[in-house]
Amino acid sequence: MRLLFFYPLLLAACLILQTSVLAERFCGTTTDGFLYDPETLDPLQIGNANMLKSFMRKAWPVVESAMGSIQPIKYCFANKEASDTLKCDIGNAMTDWSKALGPPRPAEAEPVGHSVFFKQARLPFEDGKSVISYCFDDGTDKGGTPSAAIGYISSGSPGRNRMILPEAPGREKVAHEIAHVLGMIHEQCRDDRDEYVEYLCKNVAGYDAAFGRAVASDDPEAGEKLCYDKQFAERHGFDGSQFTKNHDFWDQFGMFDYGTFDLGSIMLYPSNAFFTSKCWSSNMDACPMVGIDKLNGKVTGTSWIHGNAQPSAGDIAFVKKWYPYRDLVRAVP
Ligand SMILES: [Zn+2]
Repeated sequence: MRLLFFYPLLLAACLILQTSVLAERFCGTTTDGFLYDPETLDPLQIGNANMLKSFMRKAWPVVESAMGSIQPIKYCFANKEASDTLKCDIGNAMTDWSKALGPPRPAEAEPVGHSVFFKQARLPFEDGKSVISYCFDDGTDKGGTPSAAIGYISSGSPGRNRMILPEAPGREKVAHEIAHVLGMIHEQCRDDRDEYVEYLCKNVAGYDAAFGRAVASDDPEAGEKLCYDKQFAERHGFDGSQFTKNHDFWDQFGMFDYGTFDLGSIMLYPSNAFFTSKCWSSNMDACPMVGIDKLNGKVTGTSWIHGNAQPSAGDIAFVKKWYPYRDLVRAVP
């Protein structure tokens, strides 16, 4: 059952609600064709992961509006059914982001503003009124795992800037996908993650089956590659590709981080992401990823990673860096 789709009308974000999966590929999405100069960039990832520093993707463009210079995230649904099904979760998630970002206009008490505005695309006028615009619908019958294009993709096929959501995804999952839309990728893919979290590859659901497929390919390093080679994992249909480090292929794709590792980031997977039924807080040895506890620099144990439902201070700092306050000629309504 295909339910929905947001599509970039001019510069609209796309949301698609479909029944099967476009698996999240945020750790290693192919480039948007932008070249970068490695000489000018730190090859190691330090800070929360994103795809803007490397110019693989762009922040959403600045638009001169009656309000002033803003960076609107325009979106539309594929159809009314999709809108009816998802508008509450999406609206709530956008509200969560807007509240976390605070007012766009800097005030004395809050000197750092931003220019993010979520705007639903509307057709200019019909009988004197603007109307909601439903937009791109490619007829694909997919859905399942939430996913979204990372950052703004300026050129390519229609539907390239899109978010795909299952029915009733929940505001937290949508808020995570909005972070992708703004340009962020998963925190656990950072080069320095092993200091903060422990990735237990064999606990990712589907490992055994993927291992069987990989071994059948006669690769003597199949087990190792499944856990650390994103493209190899993807080739064998293994969701461990969501945990592989970006640095492993930085010279090919150029993904870089910003700030310090953020255990509170909305982009960090919880311990039970892609889990099997054995993974729970009292049996963390069976989970795909756990937090590393340290005291005075020494490891003292591991702990459950809770999913973060709201953008962290680090997430907000990222957005304000790439979507800084510009100039509003009149007050924001
Ligand atoms: Zn994600």
